[in-house]
Amino acid sequence: MKDYYETLGVSRDASEADIKKAFRQLALKYHPDRNPDNKESEETFKGINEAYSCLIDAEKRTNYDRFGTAEGVGAGQSPFGTGFGDIFDDIFGDFFGTFTGRGKPRPAKGNDLRYDLELTLMESAFGTEKMVEIPRWEFCSDCNGSGSAPGKMPSACPNCRGAGQIRIQQGFFSIAKTCDRCGGAGKIITDPCKACKGQGRIRTYKSISVKIPGGVDTGSRLRISGEGEMGFHGGPRGDLYIYLNIEEHPFFKRDGNDLYCDVPVSFPQAALGAEIEVPLIDGTHKLKIPAGTPSNKIFHIRGKGIQKLGGSHRGDHIVRIYVDVPKSLTQRQRELLEEFAHVTGDEVNKSFKEKIKNLFIGAEK
Ligand SMILES: [Zn+2]
Ligand SMILES: [Zn+2]
Repeated sequence: MKDYYETLGVSRDASEADIKKAFRQLALKYHPDRNPDNKESEETFKGINEAYSCLIDAEKRTNYDRFGTAEGVGAGQSPFGTGFGDIFDDIFGDFFGTFTGRGKPRPAKGNDLRYDLELTLMESAFGTEKMVEIPRWEFCSDCNGSGSAPGKMPSACPNCRGAGQIRIQQGFFSIAKTCDRCGGAGKIITDPCKACKGQGRIRTYKSISVKIPGGVDTGSRLRISGEGEMGFHGGPRGDLYIYLNIEEHPFFKRDGNDLYCDVPVSFPQAALGAEIEVPLIDGTHKLKIPAGTPSNKIFHIRGKGIQKLGGSHRGDHIVRIYVDVPKSLTQRQRELLEEFAHVTGDEVNKSFKEKIKNLFIGAEK
């Protein structure tokens, strides 16, 4: 008589959980589906099944511990119940079903799709609606997805007689396997539809209108539920994900909900102060430049940036002033500037030299 504890590699006081765990590992290793045409592992598999069936049953285990056998406990030819289906369902659940092919294929959600969409800064700021063309599978309309030519029906698979699976006797237990011929569907297509070549689906482009809310940014992702790839075995479609990328704008730079732009002023405007017109993404703004404004001075125009996604608050429009030096001058401009230079002398240069001198004197000390 074989020692069931030894077979499963557990101690005599192993808990139910220990036994299940040990069995699970061994069964995965020696399962006939994983070891086709291997007599030895088939025998081992039978052995561990036998041991498990006994030790997992409290009554049988007690008998076994006491008398060294579980036999006689369950009457009939098979002392361990009708088959292994119950055991597998019990401890493997869905897992084994997938590779023994037990049961019909179950509906599953289709794959998700990704689509990359470019937007202009303006579109991203205010939101827009875009038509996108998504390449994806659709049901073949010629055959309504059946794969059979119009007027024809798929016939029952002769291999499994429509069951989708076949049972194989292995020793005293039987295992269900997915039918190779029909792939578990139970039906085969005898007159394939010409449009889809019997696949029941065709590759097409689907036009989808996408509403884009204002405030989206590069890296934003929109999920459009149920517009992904077809489901499996009648399952729902996957989802469509639109990944957004915002094109660079020639004038406005974006940082989060704030916008930046550089605006030139003339030297007299900077020196005397001025009111200049600054372009915004939605209109213009009159900005007061105080007298004596240096280059790179920053001005914040509050609430004129980009709206927050899902909110009404807008970021700032940030203006950086720079003094524009003319590349060429008219005669009149030249005369005036020369006069200006004459009047102011080398003041700027002088005060700079002064600063430098003080700096060196400081260093010599
Ligand atoms: Zn078709
Ligand atoms: Zn079949």
